[in-house]
Amino acid sequence: MMGNVTFKKGIHPPTNKEHTAALSIEKLPLPAQVVLPLGQHIGAPAEPLVKVGDEVATGQMIAEANGMVSVPLHASISGKVVAIEPRPHVCGHPVPAIVIESNGADRLSPDLKALENLEARSAAEIRDLMKAAGLVGMGGAAFPTHVKYCPPEGKQVDYVLLNGAECEPFLTCDHRLMVEKADDVLLGLQAFMKAVGAPQGVIGVEANKPDAIAALQKAAVGLPVTILPLQVKYPQGEEKMLIYAATRRVVPSGALPIEVGVIVNNVATAAAFGRYLRQGLPLIERIITVTGAGVKNPKNLLVRIGTLVEDVINYCGGFTEPPGRIIMGGPMTGPAVYRLDIPVMKGTSGLVVQTRAEVDEPHVLPCIRCGKCVGVCPYNLLPNLLGDYAEHEKLEEAEKYGVFDCRECGACAYICPSRRPLLQLIKNSKQQITAARKKG
Ligand code: SF4
Ligand code: SF4
Repeated sequence: MMGNVTFKKGIHPPTNKEHTAALSIEKLPLPAQVVLPLGQHIGAPAEPLVKVGDEVATGQMIAEANGMVSVPLHASISGKVVAIEPRPHVCGHPVPAIVIESNGADRLSPDLKALENLEARSAAEIRDLMKAAGLVGMGGAAFPTHVKYCPPEGKQVDYVLLNGAECEPFLTCDHRLMVEKADDVLLGLQAFMKAVGAPQGVIGVEANKPDAIAALQKAAVGLPVTILPLQVKYPQGEEKMLIYAATRRVVPSGALPIEVGVIVNNVATAAAFGRYLRQGLPLIERIITVTGAGVKNPKNLLVRIGTLVEDVINYCGGFTEPPGRIIMGGPMTGPAVYRLDIPVMKGTSGLVVQTRAEVDEPHVLPCIRCGKCVGVCPYNLLPNLLGDYAEHEKLEEAEKYGVFDCRECGACAYICPSRRPLLQLIKNSKQQITAARKKG
């Protein structure tokens, strides 16, 4: 495999990473309270094991997995359970959550112990540990990790591929993680490889992070792991694009990466598992980037899961002016939130605060048939047509033209000179088709 590989098409938005790329990870002081939604992952929400009034320790399991596609939830601080009730959530409506008030002690659960002796562990044991750690995809998808590592019978996994591209503008949390926690990334990757008997590990990193590449290369000496520099291009970290760039394998429409012998995880997920093996600490904290023109002191922060957006923003010096929009995650794909009592979750990679001037909605014009959206779509779709079909509710045509192959990267909407809300239109079509299917 050659250096600086990439995929076809894509865009080059300003990266805007210079505000935080060189800032070391800071630890956010313990919050007074955390709000832990039971559903922070794709699949069934966890089932509470505690009740209001219970004292809990940091790292203690407070909700158990509810079936195969589910993960347990752990207390991210020590203190008292003060509520189990619906609380505001990034999805836009309240969802059931366990609320813990801190006792300030951060007392660790006595059940936590290091689990590092990988050699002695079977593949099945490693998968069980992934689930016990409450591990989910930390790049935003929040898919339970152990489920990915149960390939269909007889399916060989050739590569475990870690996504360190961090192609979303503004975000630098994975960059700092790779620089400062490279050993955890490599330990987690080795465990992932062992869980499926994969002979090769690859970590794809955009070439604008040479210090991260150097740190990973140093940590990978003697291991069957390749650190692969990628061209700086959006959406380089999108799963199927990353697989193509790293292996030249094409995942067929509607298929999963396992179809071509690859499993993909984010570098933060691998590091969280590495840390769990090393220290016994389940997924109770994560690194996020807090940035944008609307926040006074941008930072990369290590934050306890369940910390409210308000506490994070206050630690960063507050807003520069009344904010126009706060995006949870990166600006290309992350949802906007308009309140501060929403918690940071396992899949939250950042908070990008935009000023009002930045979010002034531009006037939407008719399509001028310039073809730019077609020229950038990495999935070779026709976003202009999909947009038309959505506007006219031609759902059959939208399906025929591959609306479900759209990975919602937002490149088409970004490039459109008429400012057509193509991504939103495509999402609407998908929702309508899915709802119609459910009705039968
Ligand atoms: S149609 Fe979907 S996959 Fe293609 S550029 Fe637009 S958002 Fe991305
Ligand atoms: S980029 Fe916008 S204006 Fe150009 S063809 Fe696509 S939808 Fe139409």
